[in-house]
Amino acid sequence: MTFTVAVDGPAAAGKGTISRALAAQFGLAHLDTGLLYRAVGAKGGDPIVAARTLTTEDLQRDDLRSMAASEAASKVAVIPEVRAALLDFQRAFAAREGGAVLDGRDIGTVICPDAPVKLFITASPEVRAHRRWLEVGGNEAEVLADVIARDERDRNRADAPLKPAADAVIIDTSALDTEAAIARAIATVNAIRAT
Ligand code: C5P
Repeated sequence: MTFTVAVDGPAAAGKGTISRALAAQFGLAHLDTGLLYRAVGAKGGDPIVAARTLTTEDLQRDDLRSMAASEAASKVAVIPEVRAALLDFQRAFAAREGGAVLDGRDIGTVICPDAPVKLFITASPEVRAHRRWLEVGGNEAEVLADVIARDERDRNRADAPLKPAADAVIIDTSALDTEAAIARAIATVNAIRAT
């Protein structure tokens, strides 16, 4: 049986944590699609060639979580040919037997528009920047500026901009701790599965 959960939202809203928890709870495979864009950005050279020739080793680099990789990812993500090159892999992953959770920016809108469960995880820019700063350290004001710049680029690009699908359930995690956010997401999946 295939069962796809699409999880979208801006940077550091809690998508990854929630997606991993949903995958564990419901026995689904999980794909962090941001990693694909990070790997393309980190590879350097022509991003279209990088996307078309992406390998498993590219996804295992240990510098993919850095601020520089985030910035590079959101720059290559505006290129339609890069997005097109990554489409089939994501759709094949979503269709795998046993079901899957994919998290990203355009899963519910472009990659899996027919997913039975679509979540849009969000939080205020300040809360998201604070969470990211706790992970990466450095200057919190600079982290906030980076989060805001990345939001702008992701929301305003022409191809597959970041936005909730019309039928997505929106979960704002600004005032929720991790456990509460996960509980809300699990309850939402259960409610949809029961219909
Ligand atoms: O989710 P993460 O922060 O790892 O994503 C890095 C960047 O990759 C995002 O800022 C966005 O520009 C891009 N991305 C995307 N579509 C996705 C996943 C990530 O455009 N499905």
